[in-house]
Amino acid sequence: PAPLGPTPKLVIDLERLAQLPKEKAGALARYAATIQSQRGDYNGKVLSIRQEDLRSLAVIYDKSPNELTEELITWGVLDAEARRAVDAF
Ligand code: C2E
Ligand code: C2E
Ligand code: C2E
Repeated sequence: PAPLGPTPKLVIDLERLAQLPKEKAGALARYAATIQSQRGDYNGKVLSIRQEDLRSLAVIYDKSPNELTEELITWGVLDAEARRAVDAF
């Protein structure tokens, strides 16, 4: 098997996020917008978030962190590599 690198980051695809229906992605979009505003980071196509933030988002979505990660991968908002970031919890 290929050697594992360092824990990958959780990187949100903001362009994809903006295309999703609000019923699904509204809470995540508001959360990401809050982080962008706190950082003053408005120009990115992607946003790196804290592992801790995925835990908070999982509570908001009433899922486990693993279930939410799978959903976000299906939506195209997270990359499949994100599984390794969450497995490292
Ligand atoms: P804070 O948590 O007290 O962090 C202060 C500053 O430390 C941040 O200013 C940033 O320059 C640096 N910092 C803290 N953690 C990290 C990290 O994991 N990586 C990097 N590269 N730098 C880090 P910044 O970015 O202006 O953020 C200001 C405040 O906004 C933060 O204060 C925090 O309260 C909030 N914030 C920003 N981004 C996030 C985030 O992704 N998640 C959460 N929960 N809060 C965030
Ligand atoms: P990387 O982490 O692989 O990020 C690659 C590029 O994705 C970044 O290029 C930037 O264009 C985008 N990107 C990733 N996360 C964010 C985000 O939260 N906000 C925005 N606006 N863009 C994001 P960039 O900025 O030229 O950085 C190149 C490399 O420099 C990064 O590769 C990383 O290795 C390092 N780097 C940049 N900022 C930080 C940081 O705050 N903390 C750490 N540890 N490394 C950083
Ligand atoms: P990163 O900057 O490469 O940081 C990787 C990990 O190093 C972070 O994972 C965190 O565990 C630790 N770390 C880095 N800086 C600090 C710090 O100032 N205080 C503490 N307590 N730990 C720190 P984490 O938290 O999962 O964050 C993942 C990525 O999200 C960061 O990668 C960075 O790209 C972004 N990020 C997180 N918080 C902030 C923030 O407050 N401001 C900015 N600008 N970026 C942040």
